[in-house]
Amino acid sequence: MIETIVGACPLDCPDACSWIVTLQDGVPVKLRGNPDHPHTGKGLCVKVNPYLEYTRHPDRLLHPLRRVGQKGEGRFEQITWDEALTEIAQRLGEVSDEFGSEAIWPYLGTGTIGYIQGVGGAGKRLFHAIGASRHSANICSAVAYPGLEYTSGLGPSMDPMDIQHAGVVVIWGANTVSTNQHLWPFIREAQKGGAELVVIDPVATRTARRADRHLAIRPGTDGALALGLMAHMNTSGLVDAGAREGLGWAEFRDEVLAAWSPERAAAECDVEVNEIIELAELMAGAGPTAIRLGMGMQRHAASHLLSAIADRRLQTIRRRPVLFDRAAVQAECRQAQPPGPRTIDNSRADDDQARSRAPGTR
Ligand code: SF4
Repeated sequence: MIETIVGACPLDCPDACSWIVTLQDGVPVKLRGNPDHPHTGKGLCVKVNPYLEYTRHPDRLLHPLRRVGQKGEGRFEQITWDEALTEIAQRLGEVSDEFGSEAIWPYLGTGTIGYIQGVGGAGKRLFHAIGASRHSANICSAVAYPGLEYTSGLGPSMDPMDIQHAGVVVIWGANTVSTNQHLWPFIREAQKGGAELVVIDPVATRTARRADRHLAIRPGTDGALALGLMAHMNTSGLVDAGAREGLGWAEFRDEVLAAWSPERAAAECDVEVNEIIELAELMAGAGPTAIRLGMGMQRHAASHLLSAIADRRLQTIRRRPVLFDRAAVQAECRQAQPPGPRTIDNSRADDDQARSRAPGTR
């Protein structure tokens, strides 16, 4: 008997592709992308096309294993799920009894099915239930969300399909052609509609080679470029009224932007001043501008500098480490952020994300 089942890719990937599995007498024999899905219907990626082969591979882990030798020896014994869960629960209980439950410090990745459950969803609820330390148990995107919240509200970025309506598309630190196959068709649609494609990347990637304009900035100087763009927009009267009314705009303008100019940014980024001026005027004048920031950009405390410029016309905020005058940028950032630690209630974080992310958003 042949039947088909609609499912979703479980990998740690925001696309969460819809897929169709064909079963023959209950055995999966074919896997393909769901053509009816508006965002991912153009197919699965190369990692997942052979997924059925992975599931049948003799080396696939099917049972919990307990290490029986020294770390690194590679000696394990098979145990049952009951044994594994009991052992982990006992150890958590021992730590909690001896030191208090906040001695347990959660550190989560998304992992397989992480995006389907909500990022870290089940884990967050577990750690909340046992009273573990409350912090942003996040290896990568914690910096991006405050940046988004400061500039755009509660952190959702745009619907990726909306990019086709942009007048300017800026891909900042991402190689979309190679790594984001479902977004690229919408960027191509925008180009066909007359949008200019700008790529900011030190490397002439496949994406950069397809751009109308490529700014090959010095690695790690993205923050300087953002400041140079904003400085020119500010002095040229190109900042949106909405942004000018934003929280902290006056302080940011007077205490941060005042120290920047396209010339200073050009020196930091090792590009021509005109490249910065022209891009600032393009982004301000030929919008709506869609900014797709690469994942690397969110791994630094200065990410809200890019958030701020992305709020010129909104969109996805990510950043990468800043190598130029790092201390100065961090000092500028501290002025733009309230002092004190940020606490995320793990029991609610998942719900917040669910509220803030419409289906299909990244
Ligand atoms: S792009 Fe690949 S890894 Fe990502 S959801 Fe789709 S099939 Fe899975």
